[in-house]
Amino acid sequence: MSIQTLIEQATIPPESGAVSSSPFDADSFNEAVMSTYARFPLALERGAGCRVWDTQGREYLDFVAGIATCTLGHAHPAMVEAVTRQIQKLHHVSNLYYIPEQGELAKWIIQHSCADRVFFCNSGAEANEAAIKLARKYAHTVLDIEKPIILTANASFHGRTLATVTATGQSKYQKYFDPLVPGFHYVPYNDINAVEAAISELDEGDYRVAAILLEPLQGEGGVRPGDVAYFQKLRQICDETGVLLIFDEVQVGMGRSGQLWGYEHLGVEPDIFTSAKGLGGGIPIGAMMSKKFCDVFQPGEHASTFGGNPFVCGVALAVCQTLEKENILQNVQDRGEQLRTGLQAIAVKYPNFVSEVRGWGLINGMELQADVQLTAADIVKAAIDAGVLLVPAGPKVVRFVPPLIVTEAEIDLALQAVDQVIATVTA
Ligand SMILES: *Cc1c(COP(=O)(O)O)cnc(C)c1O
Repeated sequence: MSIQTLIEQATIPPESGAVSSSPFDADSFNEAVMSTYARFPLALERGAGCRVWDTQGREYLDFVAGIATCTLGHAHPAMVEAVTRQIQKLHHVSNLYYIPEQGELAKWIIQHSCADRVFFCNSGAEANEAAIKLARKYAHTVLDIEKPIILTANASFHGRTLATVTATGQSKYQKYFDPLVPGFHYVPYNDINAVEAAISELDEGDYRVAAILLEPLQGEGGVRPGDVAYFQKLRQICDETGVLLIFDEVQVGMGRSGQLWGYEHLGVEPDIFTSAKGLGGGIPIGAMMSKKFCDVFQPGEHASTFGGNPFVCGVALAVCQTLEKENILQNVQDRGEQLRTGLQAIAVKYPNFVSEVRGWGLINGMELQADVQLTAADIVKAAIDAGVLLVPAGPKVVRFVPPLIVTEAEIDLALQAVDQVIATVTA
């Protein structure tokens, strides 16, 4: 049976005529929920594959996937099965006991990456927090650094907790939240001289660089792929100095790039890396992986109540196994190529509007020319009207991150819509 048929069977179909007659009440929502998001005027209530429906029954092509998260799209039969099985069997017990599903998921990750050990938590920020804590303990106990510094990149994004928002090299996320966490220093991305200079300059008194935390491809910062030569030189510097190399794979990892991990595009392996977004296909899970040599945590030094519970691990394992069984990485490569080729044709068609198209696999960005008055959010709004969900990555980049099961026909539809949107806004 085709995957589309399976998905249709697993989905509760939109009941014909049973659609809410009154529009979604955004005002009462905004009265109740803190306004941490500038939401698009859309309330979604149902999904199947790469399609979602709003409360009025209107269908959209979902090229956001919950921000690069719904690996298998919506209502995928493997997820429906795993969620149902796990909630009926056992969903939460705490890490006071062994959780077989957690062990199985850790083994899957280890077999499919350079990692030797895994720690589970609930989000990308928490996974990065865990990596920062592990690096600091390693610095104190192995590198003998009293005040360890972690280098991160300008335009990076690592999360919203105090430590990860400090690690994030964008001041717009930090405003009003100072005093920030000490021990971070920013360098330009893809600039090896800046890293070398920072390591030698930040060696004073008790301070020393202990780790470098980077995204293999910067996601929120505008879909900017890492440079191969830069990362290879970085690995060499880390090997020579003992500085830990940490990769934030929260957005680019779990197959989104066309390889399972973003670092596979760079020909280097990290000492520590993190995952979250796509790992559970949309259920909340994060993970921090390390090599054996820097696995320095002892019982009681780090923890999470929910982390790695039977429910999320059972479902994430089903997502991982489905990725493998259905050879979804091949689809990511093929559909990614199709999408980039199509977007590049659009860039050629509207040279005064689009400046660049870039990305790996199914994480791609279309950057608008600097002198274009419209922002990426304006394009996203126009695309919603045309029936396609997209997401900005910074003020001038429109990001395309569909579910990894997206079909050839769906990519074509999205490309037609984008062409039509640009034709309309430039007319
Ligand atoms: C989304 C993201 C995070 C934060 O993940 P949350 O689950 O929102 O905490 C961290 N790093 C990168 C690269 C991300 O894209």
